[in-house]
Amino acid sequence: MRSSRPRSGPRGVAAALLAASLAACGSGAGSGSGGPGGPGAGDPYFPRSGNGGYDVLHYALDLSYEPRAHRLTGAATITARATRDLTAFHLDLEGLDVGTVTVGGADARWSRDGQELVVRPREALDRDARFRVVVRYSGAPRTVTDPDGSQEGWLRTADGALALGQPVGSMAWFPGNHHPSDKATYGIAVTVPKGLRAVSNGEPAGEETKDGRTTYRWRTTEPMASYLATVAIGRYGIGRTTTGSGLPVYTAVDPEQADASRAVLDRLPEVVDWAERTFGPYPFSSAGAIVERPEDVGYALETQNRPVFPGAPDLALLVHEIAHQWYGNSVSPRTWRDMWLNEGFATYAQWLWQEDHGGGSAQQTFDALYAGGYFPDAGTNEALWAFPPADPPDAASISATPVYWRGAMVLHKVRQRVGDEAFGALLKGWAREHRHGNADTAAFTAYVERSATEEDFDGIWEEWLYGEGRPERP
Ligand SMILES: [Zn+2]
Repeated sequence: MRSSRPRSGPRGVAAALLAASLAACGSGAGSGSGGPGGPGAGDPYFPRSGNGGYDVLHYALDLSYEPRAHRLTGAATITARATRDLTAFHLDLEGLDVGTVTVGGADARWSRDGQELVVRPREALDRDARFRVVVRYSGAPRTVTDPDGSQEGWLRTADGALALGQPVGSMAWFPGNHHPSDKATYGIAVTVPKGLRAVSNGEPAGEETKDGRTTYRWRTTEPMASYLATVAIGRYGIGRTTTGSGLPVYTAVDPEQADASRAVLDRLPEVVDWAERTFGPYPFSSAGAIVERPEDVGYALETQNRPVFPGAPDLALLVHEIAHQWYGNSVSPRTWRDMWLNEGFATYAQWLWQEDHGGGSAQQTFDALYAGGYFPDAGTNEALWAFPPADPPDAASISATPVYWRGAMVLHKVRQRVGDEAFGALLKGWAREHRHGNADTAAFTAYVERSATEEDFDGIWEEWLYGEGRPERP
């Protein structure tokens, strides 16, 4: 879930930028003589996000933050594998001052160009070679304003800070290959003044206090896209419990939000149990939530293991963010064009939960949306048909209404075609087939067609997934 503020923007700009970026980095086929890795990962909306020529395996981040001075000091140890011969490679880092960069323990030359940190190792890297980069950096971490006007990166809060990364904010607090197509495991250590706490993804791996400062260690052993990494620093009430299947649950709640959050967070294990029955085995080693004050963050985000909420969530929002652990976090988009595979599924999860718990059926939700009376305001009902969910017109539209609601309507059309039983199997099968991987829209349509070979889905894809405007029939 992200703030959903549709804005208009010139169509074709993203495509033009992509063409320019591909021209600049040449083809990805180069090997043998070696050359620089590319400055982007080929994303149609964020052409400078991610980089070419290597695959990150693990990030070890050692961070220290002083909230009063708003100063972050970091050492990022990145273990990666070259996917071609490399004389140089890029990392994404926005703002902050770089101190030193080493590759394989040797000082490397480096330069900066906007968000690109270009590293030239002393010796070229061979294709398939594993290498270790250490970047030491410091400074005042920035807040990044997205094309849709929402804020991410490093957000200062009343009592600390909150790092959020969808789609491009993670480059504001650590250097990396910041595109969802390159997942990695993480170890994140955060040192903060004693009395504050640092919460992150994965599972806690120890804490120690020395000289008035406490270091909190977190470990993520399943692959994670960097936009799902988070650090939350502040004073939190900590809750620990387990789900029905024994999964550890760790929650961190701002004390101001504790009373308002209690009832809904008590149901978190029940939501995970329901989601496991509906979507298959939970893909990670722990679950949870982070609840901040509403004035500290403008939206919820499905940060891996423990989604962040802007104040106490309602049950529907909790269901949405937990469903993202399967759809978005385990099965991640190949590019930002595939956002409907995150948001359409997480929105449909809300419809399913409601249907399973005595509320209106998914069919009723679909009908109300199609009729134009679902949202309280006419503008949002109209915005549903602004563009096809599988083809947002620009970077400002990847979190807009059609991606969520019309994306969910696509899934409902598939359900109507194959029936409830086959659709239930399809939800689980899709999560299983791409578990801990990446997938795009073409992979989804191919999967659906393969799972029901006797059915014809062409009309659904043409009208609901790729078609402009409101389909003629519901
Ligand atoms: Zn969402």
